[in-house]
Amino acid sequence: MRMLLPLLLLVVSLPSAAQLRIGRASVVITPPVGMPTGGSYRKVISEGVLDDLHAKTIVLEQNGKRVALVSCDLVAISEPFIVDARRLIEQQTGLKAEDVMISATHTHSGPMMPGRGVRDEMFGGEMPVVTQYRKWLPERIAESVKLALANLTPVRVSAAIEHEHAVAFNRRFHMKNGTVAWNPGRLNPDIVRPAGPIDPDVAVVYFESPDGKPLATYVNHALHVAVVGGRRFSADYPGVIARLLANVRGQDMLTVFTIGAAGNINHVNPSKPAIASGIAEANRIGTILTGSVLKAYDGLTPVPEAVLQARRTVVNLPPYPVTPDDVAKGHDAARRFDAKPPASFKELVSGFRAIDMDRMQGRPVEAEVQVIALGNQLAWVGLPGEVFVELGMAVKHASPFPFTIVAELSGPWIGYVPDRKAYPEGNYEVESARMAEGGGEMLVEAAAAMLAEMHRNAR
Ligand SMILES: [Zn+2]
Repeated sequence: MRMLLPLLLLVVSLPSAAQLRIGRASVVITPPVGMPTGGSYRKVISEGVLDDLHAKTIVLEQNGKRVALVSCDLVAISEPFIVDARRLIEQQTGLKAEDVMISATHTHSGPMMPGRGVRDEMFGGEMPVVTQYRKWLPERIAESVKLALANLTPVRVSAAIEHEHAVAFNRRFHMKNGTVAWNPGRLNPDIVRPAGPIDPDVAVVYFESPDGKPLATYVNHALHVAVVGGRRFSADYPGVIARLLANVRGQDMLTVFTIGAAGNINHVNPSKPAIASGIAEANRIGTILTGSVLKAYDGLTPVPEAVLQARRTVVNLPPYPVTPDDVAKGHDAARRFDAKPPASFKELVSGFRAIDMDRMQGRPVEAEVQVIALGNQLAWVGLPGEVFVELGMAVKHASPFPFTIVAELSGPWIGYVPDRKAYPEGNYEVESARMAEGGGEMLVEAAAAMLAEMHRNAR
């Protein structure tokens, strides 16, 4: 009889096959200094590192089903990187493309991303350092997934959504002259009102061990990660959130940030006179959002252990129609890229779009929609490109999952994804978009259909 008790304890402490497990990893993906940066419409050569860039992975495993959520401190991830990373991940771990959601945080202080059309040739895409990074980055992403799978441990999951109205601003405005302006400037007297909403959700998914040890926090908020600026690499405000949360919950907890649908949302407050950017502003925004996460910890709802599902679909979006005249103007702008005076920002935006659409010869824009769901409570939706906030909110509204997270810039980059209303209003995001009017709504429909079906299957 005396032997029975320890034996019983041993049996009880072994994880059952159905037990949900988590694996975590973080690998550095900071490029060498001298690599061009990816946050502007100019060729900008990096001059240093403010803080390291990472590929961070959370793997979940249950009943043999494994999924991975990967977030990279990059401005975007273009198709060649995604294709190579997926191939390596499948070779090394068996996880298929639909099982791995690869997202970019959209830090504008990251490296330039080749594979984004004619701009490659303008922004330094031919430099050897870019070619080397092009090969290295997919290996690092795969390494991050492999490392996460190597340390699986039992986990309890909970989620909460806080609201923060202080840091995000819609950057499109109805003006007194009837037009819609893009970032029209602080204290501009001609502003009538914002042309759209913000999404105040700060979505938090918390992962802890069965005995309460913090393992990971997944944070999502819809706000352009374009605060730090300059010529030094930085994770921008998501890096601040990760450092501050580690101060509270321990250095062993991994914080993973993804950006919500923030195609038309940035940090520029039109009612404040000062130009606020740089490190101090990133610290301020990161601190406020960390406060929201800390508040969310007090209102967490347990997510019951349940079936894990992963789906991916490709939607063919109609291409934006360009005329031969648009294409000619585009080549002219490209020729004047480095001239004195150089082509204007506006000329480059619509010019590059025209050249890229001309090269696509009328082929559709292939857009991936991906959903990873845990039971019938929690779902992550990956949308490609920079998605207007209205579309992200529509996905959440349509979703039967009480906790629905929309991560834009997941999967291969497709540029801006404006909503239908924005097309006749025009301006930057619309003049840059590769898909015709209505393409954004097609992505919402596809996501809503997948969410509905997966929710039915989760019961
Ligand atoms: Zn952007």
